Amino acid sequence: MTDLIAARTRVAPSPTGDPHVGTAFMALFDLAWARKTGGQFVLRIEDTDQARLVVGSEEQIYESLAWLGLQPDEGPHVGGEHGPYRQSERLTTYRPYVEQLIEAGHAYYCWCSSERLAELRKEQERSKASVTGYDRLCHGMTREQRAEMAGFSETPVVRMLIPDDVPLTFDDIVRGEVKAPRPDDQVILKADGFPTYHMAVVVDDHLMGINTVVRGEEWISSTPKHILLYQWLGWDLPKFAHMPLLRNTDKSKISKRKNPAARLMWFKEEGYLPEAVRNFLQLLGYAGDDEQEVKSFEQFVEEFDWAKVNTVGPIFDLQKLDWLNGHYIRSLSPEELADRIIAFEEAHWTPSEAQVEVLHRAVPIIQERLKLLKDALPQLDYLFVSDADLTLDDDSVAALADNAAEVLDAAIEVAESVDFATDAIQAGLKERIVEGMGIKPKFAFAPIRVAISGRRVSPPLFESMEILGRESSLTRLRDLRSRLG
Ligand code: GLU
Repeated sequence: MTDLIAARTRVAPSPTGDPHVGTAFMALFDLAWARKTGGQFVLRIEDTDQARLVVGSEEQIYESLAWLGLQPDEGPHVGGEHGPYRQSERLTTYRPYVEQLIEAGHAYYCWCSSERLAELRKEQERSKASVTGYDRLCHGMTREQRAEMAGFSETPVVRMLIPDDVPLTFDDIVRGEVKAPRPDDQVILKADGFPTYHMAVVVDDHLMGINTVVRGEEWISSTPKHILLYQWLGWDLPKFAHMPLLRNTDKSKISKRKNPAARLMWFKEEGYLPEAVRNFLQLLGYAGDDEQEVKSFEQFVEEFDWAKVNTVGPIFDLQKLDWLNGHYIRSLSPEELADRIIAFEEAHWTPSEAQVEVLHRAVPIIQERLKLLKDALPQLDYLFVSDADLTLDDDSVAALADNAAEVLDAAIEVAESVDFATDAIQAGLKERIVEGMGIKPKFAFAPIRVAISGRRVSPPLFESMEILGRESSLTRLRDLRSRLG
């Protein structure tokens, strides 16, 4: 570890909607590498595309990263020495670098109107031109010269002058040598005076001391442009790690339109535990030759190795996530699980003290099989309604055997006299109904279950009766009994 250079990594999402799961995926690897090398992980908000901004999106980014335990060391909400960390607050920073590039002849003004550019593109498509992209009409012209020609726009953009010998390969710490296509004369400053992503990302990464750029593979084709900018500005290159795109089970790229799991908040809404989601993302990132699937973040950091990163689009397999979630749910203490359920339901359930106590007593009976936090309360709903408000599922009542009334009479007698604890309730009912009346357990307990929980399938019955207590259990048994006539 001593020979590792402290990495400064960053995740740089654009606040254009609900945070994407890919942001957490990058942040996880950023943070792990920063921790492994004793460096820092930075959050930068890339909000230069003002038309696409969505209110609240930035807060959701903070919230979801915090939820996953992937808090940045520096960022707009936590501060740091390299701020501001929001690109819209750095607009004056970029301009001098753009000027410097223009003066050095690496960049030029372009006054071509969007109509002309669209026409040019159409023409290139029509003629199946071998060279596509901007035709450099404005290069070497003054504003006055250009203004006399057609397709002139008052407000120019600034473009990079991509040289013929632009290096098209670069070294990637995940992929080794990577080849990228020849870039077009990329716009670096837009007509509204805002830098494009390409300009801003290079300037910011440099000024923020980022030495390891971890990002999605969709940026591979942009990297030669970024490398040119670094070179022109006389700056050291960072290391690049292009992570694979996460894919749906049909191998298509994971998108918010097609897959709800592309939205980071979805995991929270569904009742996944953050530790399960984080573990799942760790697994997705690696090629999967490791037998040990359950791993803490600390262990992930300890064993961190870029060479293990899976470059062929990892498949987003929710069954694996469900399994992991079940595992993490079982590893919680019942008290912790109860607290998580309460926190999960926060928006629409404010339990009384008595209800909190019921929940604490009930959690152990569902913990073993619970997959998602959202299923907990619906499974236990019968413990939180008054006896009078318990609704009996009509189908479950209709499906009861003919001897249900008899069974309930016996159960009422047992419940009146037995010591009211799980084992004693079970033993008493069994002795009286299964052994005494010769009724198979399946029929013996179905009416009792329907009376107590309102339905045929419920969490464990005798435990439920103990939690409800003798009075409430008796009331429920008598209610169903009287309904059966
Ligand atoms: N703002 C870019 C995005 O939203 C960041 C890409 C990068 O990490 O360089 O994906």
